[in-house]
Amino acid sequence: MTDKAIVLLSGGLNSYVAAKLLVDRFKGEIVEAVTLNYGQEHCHEVDAAGELAESLGIPWTTLSPEVMWETTDRLTIGLADKLEKSGLNRSFWDGRRLMIHLIGAIRAHSLGADCVVTGAIEQKADDEITALKYLEMSIGQDGMGVVFWAPFQSAELGHAFRVAHKLGVWDEAVLNTMDCVQPFSGLDPHEWGVGCGECQGCKARIEAHKAALATIRSEAYEVEQ
Ligand SMILES: [Zn+2]
Repeated sequence: MTDKAIVLLSGGLNSYVAAKLLVDRFKGEIVEAVTLNYGQEHCHEVDAAGELAESLGIPWTTLSPEVMWETTDRLTIGLADKLEKSGLNRSFWDGRRLMIHLIGAIRAHSLGADCVVTGAIEQKADDEITALKYLEMSIGQDGMGVVFWAPFQSAELGHAFRVAHKLGVWDEAVLNTMDCVQPFSGLDPHEWGVGCGECQGCKARIEAHKAALATIRSEAYEVEQ
C-alpha cells in the first residue's frame, strides 16, 4: 500500500460519508475526488459532488466517459421514463457501475494512488464485489495495483446516515448529498434531504433516513435515562 488514495464521489450519501471517514482517519494523501459527468439528467448530483469535495478539502475532478455516448443509446435523455417503467433506475446504462469503478481504478493508478474509496457498492451485491476484485487484479501490471475500499458494503439499512451522525456531519449529509435520480430544481428540503420523493434513489434514501433516525433517537433516549 502507498499513502495515496482517491475517492469516487458521486454526490450521493454513501460516497460522501465514505470520503468523510477517509478524511478523518487516513494518514496519507487524498489525491482527489473524482465525479463522473456522463450526461446524467439528474445533473444536480454533479454540482453536489463539487460542493461536498470543497467542504471536505479534497481537490475535485470531473471526468466524462464520452466513449459511452458512442457505445450505448441508454444515455439519451428521454429514455429515462422507459427505463423506469421497465423497473430499472432512471440513470441506468449497461455496465454503468463497473465502468465508473474501472475509470476510478485507472485514474488512481495514473496518479500513483493505490486505494479507491467508493460508496457505490449495493447491499449484498456479490456479483459486483467479484467484478471489483477482477478490476483490482487487472490494474497495475507494473506491480502496483489498486484496492477498493467500500465501507458501506453490505451495511445495514441507514448505516451511512448513522456514521454521518457520529462524525458530526449529519446536516451536511442530509441537506447537501443527492440521491434523487429525477431532474429537479428549486425544491425545498424534506426531513431526509432534497429530492422528488418518488424515484428509486429517493425511496431508498427515505427508508435509510428513517432507520437511522430511529436508532439515533433511541440511543439519545438511553443516554438520558
Ligand atoms: Zn427522487
